[in-house]
Amino acid sequence: MCRHLGYLGPPLPLAELLLDPPHSLLQQTWAPRDMRGGGTVNVDGFGAGWYEDGAEPARHRRAVPMWTDRSFAELARRQRSGAVLAAVRSATVGMPVSEAACAPFTDGRWLFSHNGVVAGWPESLAKAAADLDVVDLMTLEAPTDSAVLWALLRHRLHRGEDPARAVRAVVGQVVRTRPESRLNLLLTDGSALVASTWGHALSVRRTADSVLLSSEPFGDDARWEPVPDRHLVVARPGSVHVAPLLDEGETP
Ligand code: GLN
Repeated sequence: MCRHLGYLGPPLPLAELLLDPPHSLLQQTWAPRDMRGGGTVNVDGFGAGWYEDGAEPARHRRAVPMWTDRSFAELARRQRSGAVLAAVRSATVGMPVSEAACAPFTDGRWLFSHNGVVAGWPESLAKAAADLDVVDLMTLEAPTDSAVLWALLRHRLHRGEDPARAVRAVVGQVVRTRPESRLNLLLTDGSALVASTWGHALSVRRTADSVLLSSEPFGDDARWEPVPDRHLVVARPGSVHVAPLLDEGETP
């Protein structure tokens, strides 16, 4: 299953986050340590989005294994950013291998990634998709579960819903019908990271002025802490809140 990472903090070359650490996202393309629910490698594409000077994010995606894109490695050595979201993809069986299916998905200031699978896709999403309008469906980036999750989420964001509430609501909509789904979502607007854990691993590393969320810790640094399953994280440099996704006593 895909792996993703979000960073907020002092500007760094993208390579220091994505390529250079001992167990970087690059290494997780061919040697991930914690794959669950099928898939052994993450070679069906990758993507990175980053913010500069408060503008809308730039994005680079390719439908090839990350290690084959030499131009990205060159770019990542020079490009610095203090807000980054990146992912490597292991396409779910039956879903296309294409650039448009690679995270991060974007809209305005937002970047989004999904690590996992919606069980019973596509039928299981039909009811939730009834909330969407024709434009949401016609602008779907790819025929994948992740693209539909993004359409559901951005529909709520466009309505002005609080991002943490919106992530929680979308996860809730899916798990109420298919709790065996895997729904690690990751969303940022460049100033906060919102993430869910439902069926996949996620770790957080905080320092005084930065925060990193990553499917797998990218090094042996003792500062990485695992996020419990079925939780919601809202993180900014200097503040990390982790809370259960479901209310007490609630079952999906
Ligand atoms: N199901 C999504 C896709 O195929 C995400 C895949 C994953 O997490 N491995 O793109």
